[in-house]
Amino acid sequence: MSHMDSEVRPSNFIRNIIDEDLESGKHTQVQTRFPPEPNGYLHIGHAKSICLNFGIAKDYQGQCNLRFDDTNPEKEDIDYVNSIQQDVSWLGFQWSGDVRYSSNYFDQLHAYAVELIEKGLAYVCFLNGEQTREYRGTLKEPGKNSPYRDTPAAENLALFEKMRKGEFKEGECALRAKIDMASPFMCMRDPIIYRIRFAHHHQTGDKWCIYPMYDFTHCISDAIENITHSICTLEFQDNRRLYDWVLDNLNDFQAPNRTRQYEFSRLNLEYTLMSKRKLNDLVTRKLVTGWDDPRMPTIAGLRRRGYTAASIREFCLRIGVTKQDNLVEVGMLDACIREELNEYAPRAMAVLRPIKVIIENYPNATPEIINAAVHPNKEDMGTRQLAFGRELFIDAEDFKEEANKQFKRLVMGKEVRLRNAYVIKAERCDKDEQGNVTTIYCTYDADTLGKNPADGRKVKGVIHWVEASTAVAAEFRLYDRLFTETNPAVFETVDEVLNPNSLVVLHGVAEANLKHAKAEQAYQFEREGYFCADSKDSSSDRLVFNLTVPLRDSFA
Ligand code: ATP
Ligand code: MG
Repeated sequence: MSHMDSEVRPSNFIRNIIDEDLESGKHTQVQTRFPPEPNGYLHIGHAKSICLNFGIAKDYQGQCNLRFDDTNPEKEDIDYVNSIQQDVSWLGFQWSGDVRYSSNYFDQLHAYAVELIEKGLAYVCFLNGEQTREYRGTLKEPGKNSPYRDTPAAENLALFEKMRKGEFKEGECALRAKIDMASPFMCMRDPIIYRIRFAHHHQTGDKWCIYPMYDFTHCISDAIENITHSICTLEFQDNRRLYDWVLDNLNDFQAPNRTRQYEFSRLNLEYTLMSKRKLNDLVTRKLVTGWDDPRMPTIAGLRRRGYTAASIREFCLRIGVTKQDNLVEVGMLDACIREELNEYAPRAMAVLRPIKVIIENYPNATPEIINAAVHPNKEDMGTRQLAFGRELFIDAEDFKEEANKQFKRLVMGKEVRLRNAYVIKAERCDKDEQGNVTTIYCTYDADTLGKNPADGRKVKGVIHWVEASTAVAAEFRLYDRLFTETNPAVFETVDEVLNPNSLVVLHGVAEANLKHAKAEQAYQFEREGYFCADSKDSSSDRLVFNLTVPLRDSFA
């Protein structure tokens, strides 16, 4: 799909099962699905599930559906529906046919609920929330049967119809599956399968005031879509019993090769939160600028930050798919993007903390043009033009009046090489009242251009620079991890683990070639890191660059 994607087909326990199912003839065609709830933006954890489900469909010439599990109208939003589609496409995947919604099946789900009632396997229960909890029992103690459990089917049918018609209040009653109040699996203790909600739904409008519960909906939606391998995360392991019970009791789903569920461990990433509830909290309390804030672990945030789809796919490949709990090092994600950008990102120079340099012996009044490689070891990427003149900017951190040999940059009375240009020597400097250096006066050696590094001079240090009269002003947003703790999920609130320095904004300059930098196009700003223009705030009038990831080491 892209230069970055590994050629190797991943191997994991789910693919092994699929291999067996194809070999035994249980299935002839693989059908998977990715089933997000449209109640937030997708994050890097979802990317793992997307790469798994769509990746399997692709490698086995099967199909993968995109299905919104939209059974909670109050928490859902059409903005999420749209962003999720955009993110899946951006990641490089195409779902089979039209986007699907569980709400497409509300009529069928209702009919299946009626079927269960008719079979004496579901009843309308009038216990209130507190009583229902009380009757449910605990992990150590069995529950008690609801007094409504033995209502005759005909009566339940009438009551369920009254629910549908809006003749009961929200919370007054609910439809429950009649399974086993003593089951060691809590999800089997007569779970609610339909509840009353007088809520407008983004797909079905005001047609319904009863909505099916997720567990009832999910398994039936999978079965309706003939999903062969229903892949989900481990927290749904127990629920599999309920899913099987529902399908076992519906006439339409008796095929021996119907949907089966397989669970894998979810991705946890260091210094990152994956809970949509907590991410939503960050957004609504404006602790970040939005779901696509470049510090967010969302696909939209990573993209805006400068991560490529290929690097995210590569990351998902490297972490693998198992049933083991895990906390993946952030360095793994960084490595994927660095490897790609080191190879493909054009080089450029930007000075983040500018300080003026005046080359006093430079003869020309106007700048000269120097050709520089776009990439140090990729000739096919061509060259770019750099202006060089009497006045330049270098980074304030690259100059010291006095320093030991470890400091291989510009020191008073010593030489340094300007990247792509000449060797200069610092002669004297101006300072402001606080003693900060404001201007460095230098001389240059006109013989050293283009001879780097083999001009026989013992100049170790190389620093980057930007010519002053052609420089473009730019804002640089330097991001650090959003949380101070490796596993922020174990803390009660986000506030106690938020990194106050997750964003540092610097105002500097960039070489003129960057004036028209396109959003999301990565550059390596030499000696600083990989950056891209911000897709929301950057324009040719106001350049804003996001730090994607720092360089592991600089060329100097
Ligand atoms: P919430 O945080 O609201 O509980 P969720 O993260 O489970 O929700 P869904 O929209 O239900 O969000 O997720 C869609 C799919 O993505 C599910 O199959 C889910 O198992 C998978 N998924 C979600 N988070 C992760 C994760 N961290 N790692 C791998 N898969 C994930
Ligand atoms: Mg979920």
